[in-house]
Amino acid sequence: MRNSIECTEQKLDQIYPYVLQAAAPAPAFEVGLHYLSTDRVKILEADDQTIVAEVLDDSSSFQQRIILENGSLITECSCSSPELPFCPHCVAALLAFQRQVTAAGQQSVSEETTDTKPVEGDGPVPAGTSPLRELTLFMEWLHVAGKALQGDDALPQQPDLNPGELMSITESIQMLHHHSQRNSARQVAQESELAARDKQLESSVQEVKEVYAVCEGLRQDVTSLRSLLARIARERDQSAEQLTSLVDDLILKKQSELESLTTSRHGISTALEALTPIDSQLLLEATAG
Ligand SMILES: [Zn+2]
Repeated sequence: MRNSIECTEQKLDQIYPYVLQAAAPAPAFEVGLHYLSTDRVKILEADDQTIVAEVLDDSSSFQQRIILENGSLITECSCSSPELPFCPHCVAALLAFQRQVTAAGQQSVSEETTDTKPVEGDGPVPAGTSPLRELTLFMEWLHVAGKALQGDDALPQQPDLNPGELMSITESIQMLHHHSQRNSARQVAQESELAARDKQLESSVQEVKEVYAVCEGLRQDVTSLRSLLARIARERDQSAEQLTSLVDDLILKKQSELESLTTSRHGISTALEALTPIDSQLLLEATAG
């Protein structure tokens, strides 16, 4: 993988661990730090502008070429990690280079102080030139910082260190602490959000239960309405049959009455025809009188 990012530093030894930590993805930085602390990084060539290194992974080794030119930091690694702008191997190579530069610097300072023996009465050695003082300040700070971390308190102020590996370590610790606090705050927020969602889910389940109960009631209502309708239909059919039978009876009765009237009328006509003319005259008088 080959990546390139803008870089304001003029030399590779100015890319301190805290600068790298701010630029690299957190997982890549942590893995790179792990490679460094387990001595898996080998610097093959290095100067102010170029680093050629090799990192041994669990099973294979990867080669890095890191170049600083024209305001860009170009990193190349033989791995296929998609992490940008640095893979863990390039992080490890830059950290190892920084450690190598710091160690070389401390060695030369130590040699200089041995060569120029202080003259008695010249006063204390200037603070910035004493690695022992730096180490003491660092150890004191680390002790207090460790206690603060155990008690979940704020970290102490940065000790008065010169730029270099010790200062980078204190800065990295502060940055890690800051990230950890931010993550804790995020976790608390996520937990509270989760609790709110749980509550919401519970209330939704309750609502669903209520709706189900209403539906069940409606289903029972529909069932009883259906049976009522069936009963009404049966009664309607029975009434219709009774009505038909009544009408039939009535028609038969009227027919029989009509037939009997017809028979009577026929009898009367026959009797009238059988009467003599005298009888008819008498009958007319009697009717008139
Ligand atoms: Zn890599």
